[in-house]
Amino acid sequence: MSFNGKNKKSKTTRVSNIPSNRNINKNELNKVNGGVFVYTGDITVSQLSKELNIPATSIIRFLFMQGKMVTLNQNLDDELIGEICLEFGYDFKKEKVVSEENFEEIEIVDDPSSLKERSPIVTIMGHVDHGKTTLIDTIRNSNIVDTEAGAITQAIGAYQKEINGKKITFIDTPGHEAFTAMRSRGASVTDIVIIVVAADDGVMPQTKEAIDHARAANVPIIIAINKIDKPGANVERVKQELMELDIIPEEYGGKNIFCEISAKKNIGIDNLLENVLLLAEVLELKANPNRYALGTVLEARLDKGEGAKATLLVQNGTLNAGDFVVVGAAYGRVRKMTNEYRAELKSAGPSTPVAIIGLTEVPVAGDKFMAFPTEKQAREIAEKRKLAKTMDERNSSGGGTLEDLYNRIHEGEVQEINCIVKADNQGSAEAVKGALLNLQVDGVKINVLRSTAGAITETDVLLASTSNAIIFGFNIRPDAKIRAKAEEAKVDIRLHTIIYHLTEEVEAAMKGLLKPTYKEHITGQAEIRKVIVASKIGKIAGCMVTNGVIKRDSLCRLMRDGVVIYEGKLNSLKRFQNDAKEVAENYECGLTIENFNDIKEGDIVEGYEMVEEKK
Ligand code: GDP
Repeated sequence: MSFNGKNKKSKTTRVSNIPSNRNINKNELNKVNGGVFVYTGDITVSQLSKELNIPATSIIRFLFMQGKMVTLNQNLDDELIGEICLEFGYDFKKEKVVSEENFEEIEIVDDPSSLKERSPIVTIMGHVDHGKTTLIDTIRNSNIVDTEAGAITQAIGAYQKEINGKKITFIDTPGHEAFTAMRSRGASVTDIVIIVVAADDGVMPQTKEAIDHARAANVPIIIAINKIDKPGANVERVKQELMELDIIPEEYGGKNIFCEISAKKNIGIDNLLENVLLLAEVLELKANPNRYALGTVLEARLDKGEGAKATLLVQNGTLNAGDFVVVGAAYGRVRKMTNEYRAELKSAGPSTPVAIIGLTEVPVAGDKFMAFPTEKQAREIAEKRKLAKTMDERNSSGGGTLEDLYNRIHEGEVQEINCIVKADNQGSAEAVKGALLNLQVDGVKINVLRSTAGAITETDVLLASTSNAIIFGFNIRPDAKIRAKAEEAKVDIRLHTIIYHLTEEVEAAMKGLLKPTYKEHITGQAEIRKVIVASKIGKIAGCMVTNGVIKRDSLCRLMRDGVVIYEGKLNSLKRFQNDAKEVAENYECGLTIENFNDIKEGDIVEGYEMVEEKK
C-alpha cells in the first residue's frame, strides 16, 4: 500500500494512541509487593508510614539519628525513601507513571492482525572520505531519474527510494553524529545501518565507532565495501580487518551482509539495495497504519516564509494533513505536508518522512511527536508538557555530578557521559581528551564535547548545564565568579594536575559504584586439551567443556594451576568449523581469547557473566 498524494486514505478511522483511563492519582499506585515498596513519585513521611505500616515517629527518629530533620507532611526524595525502606527491611523500586503528557513512554501495543509491512529505515555511517555522501547522492539521483523526471528535491533529512516495487527510507545525514545525537535523546529511528568502508583505505577509527554505535543500538549492520573501482582497492583486506572486529561475512558463516560497490561509478548499488530489502524482510518490520501517527522529528528549522518547518518520520500510524500534533512541548495543526520532491501529501504512513508546516514552535531533532484526534486534546497535552518541562527545568540538576552519574547509568538513563575539558595548553587538553576517550566502562560511552586550552568560561558552564556535562580542569583553576555560576547551575567542575588521577576518578565513580550491584555468575569451565597454532589467528585452544557451558559472548578468565593468568573476553568459539553461540558440558570446542595468546595445555578457561544482583 502506498501513501502518496493521489491516495485519499483520510477516510480511514484511526485509533487514538492514548488509552482512555489515564487520569489516575499517581499515589494510588504506591504499593508493597512481596517485600518491595513500589512507588511512583514524591511521598510524605505520613503516607510512607501508612504504606509500610510503621509508625511515623519511627521514621522521623531514624532520620533524626542520621542528622536529618523531617516533619510529617514533608515530601521525601528518592534517596530518603530508599534509606527508610532499607532500614525497615523493605526493598524499593520507583516506577514511572505513564500518562498522556509523557506519551513517549506509552507502550503502543498493536493487535498483530492490524500490522502491515513497513519500509526499512536506513542510516549510512562510516569513516570520513569513505564515500557516505557519494553513496547517498548516487542512491538519490538514480531515484530522481526513475521516479519523477526533473523533480526538484528539497533537503528534508530523509528520502525514500523505491526498488522492485518496495520502498527504503534513508536518513540522509551521514555520519554517526546525527545517529548518536538522536540516540542520546532517546530516539531510535534506524532499522538498519549501512557502514561504508573504502576498499583502498580499510577499517579506520570512525568505522570502528560506527560499528560500536550500531551495536550499542542493537541495529543490524550491512557492510558496503566502497571504491572497488580504484586500483588500490583490496576487498579481502577489508574483510579481514572487519572480521577482527567480529563482523563476519555470510560466506564465512557470519551474519553480516557484505556488498562490494562503487558509489561513484554506480556499481553494485542495486545489489546493496536489494540486500537491504532482504534484511528488512528478515526483520519483519511492521506497523499499524490505522492509528494516529507517532514518530520522531528528524530536522527542524524556522523558515522565513512558512514558519516552523519540521521533518517528521512517521514510525507508526498514519499522519494526515490537518491532523493535530504535539511535538516536544509545542503543538499545531499540520497545515501542509510535503515529501522530498515538494509534492503535497494528504497522508503519510509508517516509515514515511514528511516535511510539515503548522507548528507553533520549532521543535528539536530527536523530539517525539504524536497526532491526536482533536485540537483540544493536543492543546491540553502540549500545555501539560510545557508545565512539566518548566518544572523540570526549575528542579533540574543542571550539569552532571560524578555522584549522580552512577544512578543515571544504572537506571538506564545514561549511556553517554558528556565531558568538557579545559587545560593549560592544547597539548594537555588533547591528552586528557584522549585518556577520557580511552576509558572502557560497561556500555557507557564518554563524549568529549569540547577540549580546549584556556580558563573555564561561562559558556563552558552553560554548555555543561544544557548537556549534562562534567567540566574537567587540567592545570587550571576557575575564578570565584565561575565557581559561583557553576554552583548555581549545579555543574560539577573537577580539577586535576595529573591525568591518571582524573581518569581514575571518572572510572572509580562509575565502576566502583557499579560493583555492588553486579555479581559474577560462572557459566562453566573448559580445559585446554590441545593448543593448535594457526598462522593467521595465532593459538587456538582445543578444549573440552568440563562443566556448565561456555558462551561465546561471555567474559572469561584463564587459569593455570589455580592462578588467574588473564581476564578478558572470548574472541571466537567454534564447534568443528562452525561458530557456536555456546558449547555445553562434555563437548569439545575450539576457542580463542581476545588479545591473549599465551595458552598452554592443561589451562582452564572459565566463562562468566556479570549479572545484576537482585537486592
Ligand atoms: P564521506 O566523507 O564519507 O561522505 O565521503 P565522500 O562521499 O565525500 O567521498 C570522499 C571522496 O571519495 C570523494 O572525492 C568521492 O568522489 C570519492 N569517492 C566516493 N566513492 C567513490 C568510489 O566508489 N570510487 C572512487 N574512485 N571514488 C569515490
